[in-house]
Amino acid sequence: MSANPPSFYYPHALDFDALLREFPTGREYVEQVHRMPVERLRDLQETRFLAQMKRAWEVPFYARHWGAAGMEPGDVRGLDDLDRIPPYDVNDLRESIERAPPWGDYLGIDPSTSPPMPLAFHTSGGTTGLPRPMLYTPRDREVMAITSARRQYLAGVRPFDIAQVTFSLGLANAGMLSREGLWKYTGAVPVVTGSGATLPTRRQIEVMRAWKVNVLLAFPAYLRHLADVARSEFGFDVRELGLKALVTHLGADAREPLESMWNAPAFDSYGTNECGTIASDCDLRGGMHVFEDAFAVQVCDAQTLKPTPEGERGTMFVTSLFKHAAPIIRFNSNDVSSWMRGTCACGGTHRRLERIFGRSDNMVKLRGVNVFPDAIGSVVAEQAWSNGEYVCLVETAQAHRDEMTVMVEDASGAAVRAGLQAALESRFKEVLGVKVLARIVDVGATDSLTGLSTTSKIRRLIDRRTPA
Ligand SMILES: [Zn+2]
Repeated sequence: MSANPPSFYYPHALDFDALLREFPTGREYVEQVHRMPVERLRDLQETRFLAQMKRAWEVPFYARHWGAAGMEPGDVRGLDDLDRIPPYDVNDLRESIERAPPWGDYLGIDPSTSPPMPLAFHTSGGTTGLPRPMLYTPRDREVMAITSARRQYLAGVRPFDIAQVTFSLGLANAGMLSREGLWKYTGAVPVVTGSGATLPTRRQIEVMRAWKVNVLLAFPAYLRHLADVARSEFGFDVRELGLKALVTHLGADAREPLESMWNAPAFDSYGTNECGTIASDCDLRGGMHVFEDAFAVQVCDAQTLKPTPEGERGTMFVTSLFKHAAPIIRFNSNDVSSWMRGTCACGGTHRRLERIFGRSDNMVKLRGVNVFPDAIGSVVAEQAWSNGEYVCLVETAQAHRDEMTVMVEDASGAAVRAGLQAALESRFKEVLGVKVLARIVDVGATDSLTGLSTTSKIRRLIDRRTPA
C-alpha cells in the first residue's frame, strides 16, 4: 500500500506484478477475490480502510472537513466506525476548488512540491460551470483499469474479442478508462469509436459490421439509437450481429427490451468518474456485485445517514480503499440503490446492489411524491410504439403548482396520438403515484434537449421552475 515511487516514467512508476497480486483480475480475480470467504474479505477491507484513512488525514480537505466535526486521527478504528464519519458531496468539492483553485485541496498532491509522477487527468461531468478536475496517480489509475477489466471479464469478455467502446472521449473518464481496462487487462481488442459526436452513428454501425465487433459498450439510450439508425438507414437488424455482450449502465432502464432488441445479454454496472467501476453484474445478471476489495459502499437513509436494511432504498455513500490522489471517504454519491437480499448463485461473496433507481438530487417532488426521471424512462421503454427517447420538463404552473410534462418520441407513425397519450398518462400515474402529462412527438424531436446524438451524458430532466 505504499505511495508511488517518484518516477515520471510510467513503466518505472509501478510494480505491476505486485499490483496484480493485490488487485487480481480475470480468472484469478474470480477464484481468489470474488469468492473469498466473507470474514477474509472483511479483514482485507479493514486493513485497506485504515491505510486509506491514514492517507486521507494527509489531505487538507479531510483535515478541514473532519476537524470541523471534531474528529481526530485515531478516532476511527475500523469500518464499524464508518457511520461516525461526516459524509460530503459535490458541493463540498466545489467549495474546495473555490478555496484553492484550480485543483481544490482534495487531491493531496501539490504540483509545486510533490515528487513528479505521470498523472492522468479527467473531470466529472458538469452541467453548470466548469467540471471538477481529478488527477490519478499510476497506481490509482491501474486499479481503476483493473476494476474496469473485471467488469468486462464478468460479462464474458475474453482474449481476441473485439469490443467497441461508444462512450465519450475527452474530459470524462468512461471512454478512456474502458479502453485501458480492455486493452491492458482482458486480452480483448478495444475499438474505440467514441460517442456519436466523435464518429457519426451511421459510421459506428459500419465499423461494427466490418470488423466483426462482438462486444458493445454503450449507454442504453445509445443502444436504442444505434439499433434505430441501423434499421432506418441500412435496413439492417442488429440482432444479426450476434453480439456476446452489451456492457452498459442500465440505471432505471429495463434490461429485457434492450436484450431482445440486440439478441444479446446486457450487463449492468455502476461507477463514478472519481472511482471508476464500483459494482457490476456477474454472468447471472442478478444484481451488481460491489468490488469490495476496492470499495466500502453503504446504502443509507438520506436523513439519518444510517445504513438502511437490505432491500430498502437509500443513498449510496462510497469509500475507496486504494486511492492515493483524492482518497474518497464516505462520499455522498446521491445515487439511490438498495442491497439485494441473500447470496448470489455464482458463488461470489461480494454484496450486490439491486440497480440504480435514480439520483436523489435529480429527483423532483411533485405534490409530495418523489419522482425520478429514470423511472419515467423505464415506463417509456415499455411502450412498443416509442423508440424510448424522452425528456421531462418541469415547469411552474399556476399557484406555484409544479407540473411535469414528458415528451416521448413516437416511432410508429401513428396518425392519431390521443389514445397513446391517454394510455401513457394513465401508466405514469399507476407507476409513479402522481399525475404527469405526456406529449407525443416525432422521432428526433427531443434530441436538441437531451443531446442524444452529440453526447453520452444525456439530459432527461429540464427544470424550468421559477423559484417561489
Ligand atoms: Zn453473482
